[in-house]
Amino acid sequence: MNSTAPTLRHWLTRVLVLSLVALGMSASAQNLADMKLAALGSPANQNFISNAGFVVAPQGVVVIDALGSPALARRLVQKIAEITPKPITHVIVTHYHADHIYGLQVFKELGAQIVAQQDAREYLNSETAAQRLVASRTELAPWVDDKTRLVQADRWLTESTTLELAGTRFMLERVGPSHTPEDLAIHVPSERVLFAGDLMFAGRLPFVGQADSNQWIHSLDRLLRFDVAVVVPGHGAASTQPRKDMGVMRDYLTYLRSSMGKAAKELVPFEEAYSNTDWSRFEPMPMFRFANRMNAYNTYLLMEKESLGGR
Ligand SMILES: [Zn+2]
Repeated sequence: MNSTAPTLRHWLTRVLVLSLVALGMSASAQNLADMKLAALGSPANQNFISNAGFVVAPQGVVVIDALGSPALARRLVQKIAEITPKPITHVIVTHYHADHIYGLQVFKELGAQIVAQQDAREYLNSETAAQRLVASRTELAPWVDDKTRLVQADRWLTESTTLELAGTRFMLERVGPSHTPEDLAIHVPSERVLFAGDLMFAGRLPFVGQADSNQWIHSLDRLLRFDVAVVVPGHGAASTQPRKDMGVMRDYLTYLRSSMGKAAKELVPFEEAYSNTDWSRFEPMPMFRFANRMNAYNTYLLMEKESLGGR
């Protein structure tokens, strides 16, 4: 679209989202793009399944999310160095899922300060997180190995807050518990950009997991109130049409909740409810085959709990 292209171009001069081209993967870009779309980490795609971004601020570079392995993080550092000699001063973590944080140690070693929301600590210090890392060392070898470690934040936030980082104002919005308890969305008013983390998956179905989908929908509504030109999702392409693209997420979550909520309330068994639900609207979307049944099942359990007065 003509009206949005110049805005995006202008914006790209100062804020970059990591893409395959930006990573210099041109030779195998298509191959990797296909695998990235699959959204499942593997040794073949080096666990490159999520987005990272950075803002070149007056006094340094602020990175948002650290990618899924130290090797990928080093490529991002290299890419930043090609664009600016400024040091990387901060990394803001949208949430502590493996594909967003296994690269953190690279930035920590460079002296960057890691900023995240404190509800991540429970998971980060859990046996689950430790075991996940052990499993990843096998499943994602050699990209995740014995040297890969979980990195705590240097600064834990409790609530939404505005921080002046490297001379630019960042509004860190606490939008969890939604996709995870610790979800942060990052609004950079001077660039009119919003990093939505995994509250937004663009052009594909999300992984709902143990999410609080009710809060997730409310948080999307909150994010839609920001006046931004571009939204960078946790997965998929950046969007210049936030209302439309976040709307797809919102519709899907709402539909999961209403269809599975009705079934749970009427005590219809899950299998029956699933096969009686009309999924045709979402079926053409990438990841439907991988994610939809599990998303529906998790939502069914959640709605059972909610109908029993859990919330
Ligand atoms: Zn995630």
